[in-house]
Amino acid sequence: MEAAFAHHGLPWVYLNCEVPDGAISHAVGGAVAMGWRGFNCSMPHKQTVIPELHSLTLSARIIGAVNCVVNDDGHLTGHNTDGRGFIDALTGTIEISGARIVILGAGGAARAIAVEAALAGARHLTLVNRNPARANEVADAVSAAFGAVDTTWRAFEAGYVIPPETDLLVQATSVGLSPNVDEMPSIQLTSLRADLVVADVIPNPPMTSLLRVAAAHGCRIVTGTQMLVNQAIANLELWSGIRADAAVMLDAFAAALAPADEDGRPN
Ligand code: NDP
Repeated sequence: MEAAFAHHGLPWVYLNCEVPDGAISHAVGGAVAMGWRGFNCSMPHKQTVIPELHSLTLSARIIGAVNCVVNDDGHLTGHNTDGRGFIDALTGTIEISGARIVILGAGGAARAIAVEAALAGARHLTLVNRNPARANEVADAVSAAFGAVDTTWRAFEAGYVIPPETDLLVQATSVGLSPNVDEMPSIQLTSLRADLVVADVIPNPPMTSLLRVAAAHGCRIVTGTQMLVNQAIANLELWSGIRADAAVMLDAFAAALAPADEDGRPN
């Protein structure tokens, strides 16, 4: 974020603040008192911040989580740019409108992606999760908000076969996140067709084991780093009106990861 501030001439700073449980109200009051233009929230405050805000965007309301707050002279609006960043990252790779999408996972990232995909006109959504009750819950929430989107769910089981009509597979679980870089969801590799797009939410490492395997099967891939950077671009645009240069942020992210990348994998 600071690389983008510097590149676009914004005299701003981006601080990481640890806010203990129970202190979100004081933290938000402090941000307003100090005239902050806005802030991001990570878990658990994506939910605990909501009662502190004056309004929510449609997607933040349906997702039930806020990761970006804009302060307009004390009026606080909660946005969710996780799903927006994901959809933006697909630009030039796949058109979401009319797409048939399978999402592995039913946590916060999966829910944000499901809601934004529905908003963007996806034709069919299937939520597949280890805990099927969570998949059911997300599918019901999307169905309730977007009756026109055909939404189903099922339990994730080893050797999952991607339905042949699928246009986009989204890996939205935490499987494969560093340091567990050799892990990937158990899917039947023959169901990775060359005309499938495979997207992974894991930002670190950018090239997950799943994406490597998918690319080897001829699939087009979208990385979690692209999602993360597009989410940050959306945040900055909400705060400043400036559409940041993605290359500047991608370079800064790669530089930040480089020292930790001890296994020699390329960023
Ligand atoms: P949650 O804790 O809300 O959800 C985790 C999900 O992963 C659940 O669906 C859970 O299944 C599933 N899961 C975890 N371990 C396993 C496993 N061993 N096998 C199968 N499924 C598993 O997390 P989030 O949704 O908030 O985040 C998920 C990932 O998305 C994180 O790694 C995070 O880094 C990434 N993320 C990336 C962003 C980006 O911009 N690139 C933005 C936000 C998140 P179950 O319900 O059965 O436990």
